[in-house]
Amino acid sequence: MKQPIRVLQWGLGAMGGGIARLMLDKPGLAIVAAVDGRPEFAGQDLGEVLGIGKHLGLAVTDKPATVLDGEKVDIVTLATTSWAQHQMPDLRGIFGAAINCISIAEELADPEAQNPELAAEIDALAKQNGVSVLGTGVNPGFVLDSLVVTLTGGCHSVERIEASRVNDLSPYGPTVMKTQGVGTTPEAFWAGVEDGSIVGHVGFPESIHMISEALGLDVDRIEQTREPIITKVHRETPHVTAEPGMVAGCSHVGIGFHGDTEVVRLIHPQQIHPHLEDQDTGDYIHIHGRPEVHMEIKPEIAGGETTMGIAVNMIPHVVAASPGLKRMIDLPAPAALMG
Ligand code: NAD
Repeated sequence: MKQPIRVLQWGLGAMGGGIARLMLDKPGLAIVAAVDGRPEFAGQDLGEVLGIGKHLGLAVTDKPATVLDGEKVDIVTLATTSWAQHQMPDLRGIFGAAINCISIAEELADPEAQNPELAAEIDALAKQNGVSVLGTGVNPGFVLDSLVVTLTGGCHSVERIEASRVNDLSPYGPTVMKTQGVGTTPEAFWAGVEDGSIVGHVGFPESIHMISEALGLDVDRIEQTREPIITKVHRETPHVTAEPGMVAGCSHVGIGFHGDTEVVRLIHPQQIHPHLEDQDTGDYIHIHGRPEVHMEIKPEIAGGETTMGIAVNMIPHVVAASPGLKRMIDLPAPAALMG
């Protein structure tokens, strides 16, 4: 008889909670443990924390060591942070217990892009313990990298890639508003970019490195620019307000060069309520080569739902993978997990 894959959900915030709710609908997956650092979640039933109106008979813990057991857990789905270094202590615990892992940390999508030593350490630790680890999500992980690579699948040659994701930030919470500079003055925006408190999108080096590696474009330099999107009209979300003349978002561009030649350009303007200034949202991928490929998806692929979906849909691929650090370009293409 087939046994379900046993999953430990680690991180029960906006994304981790959604990943857990989605897994409850998948007969091939069984949530066997749940971890979150929030003291108010500790000891509560997972069903209560997820707000699904029923008990699951599974208490959330803030002590991961009590549930990290490779005999009882096949994979951890980790939704806690964006940063690879911050995730290392948790990854060490997961690998040490001989458990596979999928993380939605943006920097885990391709840690080699910014920190080759750390990537080598993660790969070696995973291999020593016979497990595999993947970083994924909507972006990085899908729209501006693995989807781009997939679209080149029939190309004879590729000279240059330009892809953009124009999305609406309105559903996101206060952390995202701060890191995108929404609701600040243009002066405060530039000061935030300077001191690193306004970062825009996290993931361009990872996406550009993945595209370059998959296609052999030999990107040897990545440049990034961040500019404020100034609103002409009043815009408001539950967490932030931008009056005319203030910042409604961040237009972030990442460019990959081979020598002096631009080979990859990724464009990601993110703002609250773009429709108030007649800005449509969408994902656009242009592959310049032979043959040319031009893809347009309007509106954009939904960010939160897709992050939850891809994290869940990749579970069987990661459990079946050979040990080590994997990227989306190293594993079979994702597909909706329906059975
Ligand atoms: P969130 O703040 O809503 O939730 C994070 C949860 O993790 C919180 O409940 C927090 O208590 C818990 N947590 C943090 N560190 C922990 C630790 N070490 N141990 C136990 N619990 C811990 O955030 P979110 O919206 O769910 O997003 C999570 C992360 O995923 C963010 O950094 C976000 O940028 C990233 N993300 C990536 C993608 C992608 O495309 N790759 C997409 C969406 C979100």
